[in-house]
Amino acid sequence: MSDSTIPSIDTDRGPPFADREAVRVRLGSVEVSGIDNTSSNSYSKPWVKRWEEIVSQEAGKCVEVNCKRAADRGGHVWKTSDRSKRHCYIIPICRHHNLKQYDRGGNPGNFLTKPDTYGVKMSSHEAYA
Ligand SMILES: [Zn+2]
Repeated sequence: MSDSTIPSIDTDRGPPFADREAVRVRLGSVEVSGIDNTSSNSYSKPWVKRWEEIVSQEAGKCVEVNCKRAADRGGHVWKTSDRSKRHCYIIPICRHHNLKQYDRGGNPGNFLTKPDTYGVKMSSHEAYA
């Protein structure tokens, strides 16, 4: 078996997940915390495309309240106040706000979103699909 017969992951489309479970929700002026171990995954760019499809907006600027950088990736976050971790959200963010220091348990461990932010809500296990 040659290497060329091993199926590769299609990173243009991102991992499959159930679209019917991914919905647009208001996520403005909310404290959010990054999900561990997703900040460096190779699906970051496709996730922001998925956000654009579901929210029907261009990603534009990072959703952190004071950030003026372009959102070039989709970050996976929880609401900081939500301890159940049942649902997570994709939001468009910049490289800086995707760093581990904004993950739960980091320092500061969260950030506040802009008032007009939308997130794509999905079940947490889908984030690791
Ligand atoms: Zn940012």
